[in-house]
Amino acid sequence: TFGAVVRAPAQSALPGVKHVVLVGSGKGGVGKSSVAVNIAASLARDGARVGLLDADVYGPSVAHMMGQGAAKVTATADRKMQPLGAHGVTFLSMANLSPAGQALVWRGPMLHSAIQQFVKDAAWGELDYLIVDLPPGTGDVQLSLTQTVQVTGAVIVTTPQDVALIDAARAIDMFRKASVPVLGVVENMSYFVAPDTGVTYDLFGRGGSRRLGEQFPLLGEVPIDIDLRSDADRGLPGVLAHPDSAASLALAHVARTL
Ligand code: ADP
Repeated sequence: TFGAVVRAPAQSALPGVKHVVLVGSGKGGVGKSSVAVNIAASLARDGARVGLLDADVYGPSVAHMMGQGAAKVTATADRKMQPLGAHGVTFLSMANLSPAGQALVWRGPMLHSAIQQFVKDAAWGELDYLIVDLPPGTGDVQLSLTQTVQVTGAVIVTTPQDVALIDAARAIDMFRKASVPVLGVVENMSYFVAPDTGVTYDLFGRGGSRRLGEQFPLLGEVPIDIDLRSDADRGLPGVLAHPDSAASLALAHVARTL
């Protein structure tokens, strides 16, 4: 359990990388990868040098959302992994290493070494931000990462539902025990404005993220947005494809708070 991890992790700074920001969630399917991809693209658009590491090893979706699902990672002359690039972002995903559709059945120690290689044996170069898309929940990958690198902080993505908020609180508690500062909470799928009538629907309830505790700033409320979903499906970050939508503006705001 994470109760045993209260000691300060053996952290080491990643050379050439100024900030390592983890994007986590308590549950899957709340939009964690979408938030990670869009804040990375938004930071890059604003002129930062951005890397995006897909550490969601069980369900890697960053490569597809970046439009590079079929690309394969190559090695550099000094035998490091050469991250791929798209939309101004350098990225690395398990999806670009393993054959499509193949499940990963790795145990903790293998996962730990895979994460270490992703972080340390890849030619990330000089970065202002390394954004890390974590798997949902509180597991081995989260632990490995917090023990492998000095993390600037974590952003927690949740939907407004009580069930999601309970799990988000658990994720926050894990980061606290691993001495990772929680930068704030992003409430995704906060509301839906019907495009034909303009009527707002709070599909999953609203404002619940504020109850997560006053100590964590609410970084943004991202509405359900059909374009954000279809842009992701065709490999384009919504913040670039539809920069003026309410969802894109909220995501760009989150990126600026980092
Ligand atoms: P997670 O990483 O938490 O599993 P994803 O980012 O993969 O979640 O999102 C799950 C699905 O929901 C994807 O198809 C994504 O495009 C869609 N999605 C995420 N956020 C939104 C949103 N605000 N509006 C519409 N669709 C969204």
